[in-house]
Amino acid sequence: MKAEIICVGTELLLGNITNTNAKFLSEKLAEIGIDVYYQTTVGDNMQRIMDTTISALNRADILIYSGGLGPTEDDCTKEAVCKAINKALYLDEQIVEDINCFFTNKQIPESNKKQAYVPENSIILKNDVGTAPGFYIEIDNKIIILLPGPPNELTLMFNKYAMPRLDNSSNNTIRSRVIKTIGIGESSLEEKIIDLINTQSNPTIATYASNGQVDIRITAKADCATKADGLLDDMQTELDKRIKEYIYSYNNESIEEVVFKMLTHRKLKIGFCESCTAGLTTSMLASIPGASKTLERSYITYSNLSKVEEVDVKESTLNSYGAVSKETAIEMAQGLLRKCPIDISVSITGIAGPTGESETKPTGLVYVCLAAKDRYVVVEKKFNGNRESNRLRSAKLVFDLVRKYLLDLI
Ligand code: ATP
Ligand code: MG
Repeated sequence: MKAEIICVGTELLLGNITNTNAKFLSEKLAEIGIDVYYQTTVGDNMQRIMDTTISALNRADILIYSGGLGPTEDDCTKEAVCKAINKALYLDEQIVEDINCFFTNKQIPESNKKQAYVPENSIILKNDVGTAPGFYIEIDNKIIILLPGPPNELTLMFNKYAMPRLDNSSNNTIRSRVIKTIGIGESSLEEKIIDLINTQSNPTIATYASNGQVDIRITAKADCATKADGLLDDMQTELDKRIKEYIYSYNNESIEEVVFKMLTHRKLKIGFCESCTAGLTTSMLASIPGASKTLERSYITYSNLSKVEEVDVKESTLNSYGAVSKETAIEMAQGLLRKCPIDISVSITGIAGPTGESETKPTGLVYVCLAAKDRYVVVEKKFNGNRESNRLRSAKLVFDLVRKYLLDLI
């Protein structure tokens, strides 16, 4: 089944608001294995909404509208769609009643009456948090769903009333899994699984890259959940064969959650010595409830002086190699380990940019050192993002290094 998402609103076309409804609906449809081939945005205009409806009916099985169901003059989605598909609108007394309940004086404003008109032969989707109801219409083997624009109303109505109908309209059970990878770029990862991507049908595979990570969503359809899960298991085994070392979660956890679980499971204490990330790594770990079980302490050693004073980096090291160097990273991590009652110490030093680079030390250059009682590991990376993304990628690199260390992969 192919779906088209049609967002109605002149303010979307003017760029006044971000189209978060389209993002939400696309993600939800992907979850249940419905392909979205087009996302269309159209202004609050009767003729253009009618034209859009006719084009969409020619290329999709399911049309999902967002917006233009409200009481004001410019809200005309329902009227335009009904005109395009030749359906009449009639006044529904129950909706008048429902809208009445919304107004304390029990007097429904004239403009809101518009919302009580219902397309013939449609199923009404209740609006539990607003006045405009939505509609589910089946016509010539096609499904048309009209949802209100305010995101809180749209998401609730879709999840509670529209999604179960879409799920029922197919005989299939759809299951999906998000497999998370780190430490490999999207194109290198694709190269390793290109044959699976090219021949995909069931399960389908889609990759999404963001901030140094690539997520792989696999989605399978079958006539029961056990079979769908079986198809996903087979695909997971196939992915393991090719990219296991980069996979850190099979069920959509964040890298810090995974590392937190590993550390607490082994009862290990960790501490960070952060320069360019200035507390970001610590904050990511601390955002997990129960972080105190493993997080002992951290230092932000932004200046050279603080590196010397707090974690005993030698001035001679800073003078010879600079603050952003393998040597400094090692001394930071070892200094922290000596000073604190921790099992694992990790240091981060780098150039987040866009200023501060030199000929030999470009923006995005980062050194991370993990030191434990038995040994240390230091890695060098060069990120190509902006300041914010370089810092975030550095923090994720830290967690990945800890993960690999605990798995004996480094
Ligand atoms: P209302 O009863 O509030 O008029 P409506 O169904 O007529 O609801 P619109 O008038 O199109 O919906 O939009 C109402 C508000 O919902 C907009 O001002 C905007 O804040 C938000 N909104 C509409 N469409 C979107 C969208 N695609 N993504 C995010 N927000 C949206
Ligand atoms: Mg409106």
